[in-house]
Amino acid sequence: MLGACRSSHKIVDSKRGEVSRTLGPMSASSPAPNGKRVLLANPRGYCAGVDRAVVTVEKALEKYGAPVYVRKEIVHNKHVVDTLRERGVIFVDETSEVPEGALVVFSAHGVSPAVHEEAAQRNLQTIDATCPLVTKVHKEVNRFARDDYDILLIGHEGHEEVEGTAGEAPDRVQLVDTPDDVDKVTVRDPSKVVWLSQTTLSVDETMERVGQLKERFPELADPPSDDICYATSNRQFAVKAMAAECDLVLVVGSENSSNSKRLVEVALQAGAKDAHLIDYASEVDEEWLRDVETVGVTSGASVPDVLVFELLDYLAERGWEDVQEVTTANEKITFALPRELRDEKIRSGVR
Ligand code: SF4
Repeated sequence: MLGACRSSHKIVDSKRGEVSRTLGPMSASSPAPNGKRVLLANPRGYCAGVDRAVVTVEKALEKYGAPVYVRKEIVHNKHVVDTLRERGVIFVDETSEVPEGALVVFSAHGVSPAVHEEAAQRNLQTIDATCPLVTKVHKEVNRFARDDYDILLIGHEGHEEVEGTAGEAPDRVQLVDTPDDVDKVTVRDPSKVVWLSQTTLSVDETMERVGQLKERFPELADPPSDDICYATSNRQFAVKAMAAECDLVLVVGSENSSNSKRLVEVALQAGAKDAHLIDYASEVDEEWLRDVETVGVTSGASVPDVLVFELLDYLAERGWEDVQEVTTANEKITFALPRELRDEKIRSGVR
């Protein structure tokens, strides 16, 4: 089990602070009479960067009143975005859609300097909810660009985070997404090349891509520290720990959430017989449950735990009442709110 431990106590929903469900004992020694069980990954769900971004928007609503404009989805989760929209948030694709002088929040995925400049030209008030771990990658891009490196950014084409990061030094950054991209890269000096990455990639796939790049550029420099963030790698590690025992893994998360999609891929690669991404329990296809005994459940870093608990309720109604938590790490990281809102600290109410 890759060092995982299974709880045999109650799940305390740390987001809601209440006891939500009683866990069963270790299944290997005492399977449920019907053979059905749920393995519940821990860590799962909200990371520190998402929590900070959602609280930022909530505090902005409280402090400045609706409407609050947010450029792009504050985090990639349908439930979170719909809930905030109901509270008076207007999501826009570009700052040009925000009325002159109004308040706009930049999302957790980060923005390029060009977006900051455009906002300044239009006299927008801005609050930057970029995750500090994304900002760290932006700073790395700046540092290596200053030192005249070619920067190979491993990431998904079109993803907002990649656009923001590459925008720090567009003349120096080349995106590497697919294996074919590795062949297309051209560098000025093979002894001055570094790879950096998007924060929410598959750890294993990224290292494959790095291996391919190193075949072409043996002197390729590594990032000063991991760019794939703790939350992404912890959630992948937890799902790997249980995947081989699962007939089915259900990942709660949205289609546009990179880290959630990676959890489906990682589950399948680690031996799960089947895996699906769902926004809500109501999206489970009953066919997926046919002949299934063990269901693995996890969620992406932008997913509030209330959605996971709804899924557990759905499964319990169908005989999967035995829920065992598979714990591979305990996360204690938190980030301070953006300076404009720092005086008032609350936990996110989007649950
Ligand atoms: S997934 Fe990682 S980089 Fe993205 S918001 Fe969460 S902690 Fe930050």
